[in-house]
Amino acid sequence: MDHTSREHDQLVEKLRVLEDAYNNDAPLVSDVEYDKMKNELLRIEAEHPEWTRLDHTTQKPLFDGWDNTILIEPTQVKNRLNAEKLKAKDVKIDRPSLRAEIQGSASVPYQTDLSGCTCPDFRNRKMPCKHMYRLALELGLIEKFPEVDSTIEKAVVQSAAQKWKDEFTQGRISAQLYARVAEALQK
Ligand SMILES: [Zn+2]
Repeated sequence: MDHTSREHDQLVEKLRVLEDAYNNDAPLVSDVEYDKMKNELLRIEAEHPEWTRLDHTTQKPLFDGWDNTILIEPTQVKNRLNAEKLKAKDVKIDRPSLRAEIQGSASVPYQTDLSGCTCPDFRNRKMPCKHMYRLALELGLIEKFPEVDSTIEKAVVQSAAQKWKDEFTQGRISAQLYARVAEALQK
């Protein structure tokens, strides 16, 4: 039987609800039923590894698996900075479960955890999106970037971009400083 990625997402969500209920001592289904669904999920993910949102080998959220060299890529720095720009009213954090519901441009809020997100950015790139960074920031797992010095002129920063990049790749400046430049470049 073939599955769509939407069906996969629905199954993931369903299992989450069941797991929450179970963890709150109010199971909604029998263990046998739960196991059946969980096995179905694992079977689907074996067929479609690209849909997997949790590293089943380690059972650790993927966020932990991304090392710093990925987290400081320019696109990732941008996501991280954009995470701080999400409005507080659009972000609902559920600390106990390490999950968030974040209202984006879609009508339905994105379901975010540290291993994945239902937004298009994560689905396309399979790398942490701004929602995941926001969740990680709110949970205190990553540090906030320092404030950007607004007096830095765009032109100056742009002409200096390559120099900053070289400084950074050669280890002479910190990720924080590099990130400041990245943000300044976006303005
Ligand atoms: Zn996302």
